[in-house]
Amino acid sequence: MTTAALPASPAPPQVLLAHHLRQLKLPTFLREYEKVAAEAAREGLDHVRFLLRLAELELIDRERRMVERRIRGARFSAVKSFDTFDFAAIPSLNKPLVLELARCEYVVARDNVIALGNSGTGKTHACLALGLAACQRGFPVSFFTAAGLVHQLREARDERRLLKLQAQLAAVKLLIIDELGYVPLSQTGAELLFEIFSQRHERGSTIVTSNLPFEEWTSIFGSQRLTGALLDRLTHHVHILELNGESYRLKQSKARRRRAAQPSDEEAVAADPETGEIISAS
Ligand code: ADP
Ligand code: MG
Repeated sequence: MTTAALPASPAPPQVLLAHHLRQLKLPTFLREYEKVAAEAAREGLDHVRFLLRLAELELIDRERRMVERRIRGARFSAVKSFDTFDFAAIPSLNKPLVLELARCEYVVARDNVIALGNSGTGKTHACLALGLAACQRGFPVSFFTAAGLVHQLREARDERRLLKLQAQLAAVKLLIIDELGYVPLSQTGAELLFEIFSQRHERGSTIVTSNLPFEEWTSIFGSQRLTGALLDRLTHHVHILELNGESYRLKQSKARRRRAAQPSDEEAVAADPETGEIISAS
């Protein structure tokens, strides 16, 4: 007995729709349309409102995906925001200025920001938070430590792709260079870094953090002439943040030690009132 081959059944419309939506790069539309259709039926929404709701969901998700992509692209050493920054811990820091900077108008104006202060006072935290705010507002950001950036520039030069890296660095709206001053730069390193500042001057914003006051920057760059030219460019349109005070880490570990040394109220109740000896440890 022979069986005639069954004609290939056309793909169900759901399969075709899924295929087209993937091609059109509308993942949220694809993931949500059945659920939104059920909602629309329940609420008696017409087809325009059904489509509008789906389009809105896709837009919100797309924006979120773009922010996430910019955050990954920035290569932050950690993702930190001002939500977890305790301004009361660092009275020298101009809070209104920081909050204004978090609105990112300086990025549009191509101004620079320099954060100066001793170790552990929150310079890296603050510049990461400014970087995150810029990503959220749609600006491409790149984060480096000064030593890391110099290393990458030297490597690019040795591999004859320095121009390409310089063009990439010139294209980001906000370049963050953390920890300038911890390591003195070689002459080549200083010149390579100077070229980056020079190329970005009035074309894009740069944030620099340093543990050294300006008077000591010659010790980073080695040459007074180069340091002068660099400061001239960097401080032309600049907002300066001063973070001077006790190290936040040190303060926290001191507080932890104090808490560990002090008995809690419950333990005090269980102590002998005269000798202070703990009678019953629960
Ligand atoms: P710096 O770069 O000035 O050496 P960091 O930003 O690395 O200091 O701060 C050291 C640690 O303390 C980090 O974990 C940071 O998140 C935290 N920290 C510093 N200052 C504050 C602050 N004012 N509020 C909350 N956390 C802070
Ligand atoms: Mg730091």
